[in-house]
Amino acid sequence: MPIEILTITNHDRNIFKGKYIYPVVSRRAGGLSLGINLNTNNACNWQCIYCEVPNLVRGKPVPIDLDELERELDYWLDQIVNKSFLNQYTKSKTEFKDISFSGNGEPTASEQFKEVIKILVKKIKKYNLNKIIIRLITNGSYMSNIETQNALSLLDTINREVWFKIDQMNKDGVKKINQVNLSTLSVKRNLEAAISNSPTFIQTCLFKINKELPSLESIEIYINFLMPYRSKVKGIHLYSLARPSEQINESKLTRLTKSELEIIADKMKVLSIPIQIFP
Ligand code: SF4
Repeated sequence: MPIEILTITNHDRNIFKGKYIYPVVSRRAGGLSLGINLNTNNACNWQCIYCEVPNLVRGKPVPIDLDELERELDYWLDQIVNKSFLNQYTKSKTEFKDISFSGNGEPTASEQFKEVIKILVKKIKKYNLNKIIIRLITNGSYMSNIETQNALSLLDTINREVWFKIDQMNKDGVKKINQVNLSTLSVKRNLEAAISNSPTFIQTCLFKINKELPSLESIEIYINFLMPYRSKVKGIHLYSLARPSEQINESKLTRLTKSELEIIADKMKVLSIPIQIFP
């Protein structure tokens, strides 16, 4: 009888202790995802009010012990590919879907991001992971930097996706939700860099603030921003709060229901971009 420890609601990175690498069953990946956390100090350049990272601080990741990261990656890939990890610790028919950069902060902020990608490329060859997707889950803010572009170019011949965060595009909304000042121009520049480099999906987190739904105006601004990219973006993931925010908020955040997300997705249909919802 398998021990069903990993589920879509259990993302405790300490279940299987490791510093950089952790397995999770991800609803958005549709199976087992091997996560890479480059932000072991819980530091991000954004401070989203819904962020699930405990003790989040503003800043950059600390230097990475690349040997340790490689050892952990080898251990987990061996467990998943050659041993019985999936049978023992996940529900039956759970498949290994991706290796994703989805840590406790923005991964591309790491100065060793390229070195980590080099290790990853070695492991993809060693374990023959042709069907596995490398996913970069990012707030996009370093995407047009030459260092990020150089690092991602190492994945040119490898299955890869960028999941680029855009929750809102109106300045006040971004300031309130992501707690950063973003210019439309910088988001354009970064999104275009992502699209030119990798298949790119937009990830959009929506929720009620003090019982109020996202405003019609903010949805219209979002649609107008994405309109020029509608044939270039591969999809939109509309999701709500899977787990409670770990941040201290004056406002009360509430998850959107499936039908509330469907109504918003319906408004976005004018974009003709495939939309998936994850209530
Ligand atoms: S970008 Fe991601 S890690 Fe950073 S604060 Fe927002 S949700 Fe948290």
